[in-house]
Amino acid sequence: MARVNQNFLKLEQSYLFTRVAQKVNAFAAQNPGRTIIRMGIGDVTLPLAPVVVEALHQGAREMGVKETFKGYGPEQGYAFVREAVAGYYKAEMGVEVAPDEILISDGAKSDVGNIVDLFDTDNTVLICDPVYPVYLDTNIMSGRRVVLMKAGSENGFLPMPDPAVRADLIYLCSPNNPTGAVYTREQLGEWVDYARKTGAIILFDAAYERFVQDPALPRSIFQIPGARECAIEFCSLSKTAGFTGLRCGYTVVPRELCATDASGNRVPLLPLWVRRQTTKFNGVSYVVQKAAAAVFGPQGLAQCDENLACYRQNAQIIRELMEEKGVEYYGGLHSPYIWMRCPGGMKSWDFFDRLLEEQAVVGTPGAGFGAAGEGFFRLTAFGTQEGTREAMDRMRALL
Ligand code: PLP
Repeated sequence: MARVNQNFLKLEQSYLFTRVAQKVNAFAAQNPGRTIIRMGIGDVTLPLAPVVVEALHQGAREMGVKETFKGYGPEQGYAFVREAVAGYYKAEMGVEVAPDEILISDGAKSDVGNIVDLFDTDNTVLICDPVYPVYLDTNIMSGRRVVLMKAGSENGFLPMPDPAVRADLIYLCSPNNPTGAVYTREQLGEWVDYARKTGAIILFDAAYERFVQDPALPRSIFQIPGARECAIEFCSLSKTAGFTGLRCGYTVVPRELCATDASGNRVPLLPLWVRRQTTKFNGVSYVVQKAAAAVFGPQGLAQCDENLACYRQNAQIIRELMEEKGVEYYGGLHSPYIWMRCPGGMKSWDFFDRLLEEQAVVGTPGAGFGAAGEGFFRLTAFGTQEGTREAMDRMRALL
């Protein structure tokens, strides 16, 4: 009889958002008259920018005409998108990345999960706690040794390298999901120095880079000198351009980045990632790539930024309540997430239940992002402005 991958049996049974959805559905069924405000899941609510919609239409029209119809495209992405992303790095962050170091995908979740194919299962992996759960789960699935580094109020939810801890792969997420904390250039510089000294590779998740408002804060790890020798960066159009349903992201693997083989020889990772993607992935649809290129076109960023401005206003509304009530919180300034301490020393799921039952407001329990998230709660700014205001009015009674 076929045998399963035993590692899957080591995963936590219920995925965080499944458990949240089950509780919310049960509450809705028992309270049909109450309006639930959802401040939990990190999905966008505003529609796509007009230039993006026009590009989708244009792509669809081209697919319906013999002369412009496209079949399979390059697995790594069309050159016009890879060049547009390279231009974005240069113009927005002053970072030089070559188009062929950028691979287009159906989103950062896939790439963050698939990158582990490139690395020996014998590597030790360092992951922040709490953080986006995909890093931990994908490494459990492939049976790697994981070391957690605690993020807490003592380090501003930004763990720094510990010379006593040895790791081969290090996941960093900045601006962070769920805490909204953002590393400074100096702090990322310490991580880059540590990785270069120890031969580790940093897997940098920049899915929320466009939420950073302070030009002094880094949006790409490649803004840090030396990062090209020790880092891979993951990016997404999901939150910055509303592509959660459309699906498009990109990953940057610098040409000079290497890991070692069993004999200690240096092996460049870019050809391995290209090999992995061309073998197991058949590319993002042409129509979606047309839309992605439109994001980086002349009106695209300005139109997408109008949506980001709405989300920033929502974050401001949430932060104002936290300030008013003297609640300890993080994020919300360079991030769509506000990470608050639960009132009265409550546990995360207890506060979740109370907020749902008494106020019909849904958030995400911090403990769902890792044990160190216990006692904290994540609110997102992706709702409507009326919904966010109403939710804060309801929460005021509980804080
Ligand atoms: N990385 C982080 C930190 C996220 O929070 C998310 C989505 O919530 C993703 C990656 C996934 O992005 P995508 O929609 O591009 O798969």
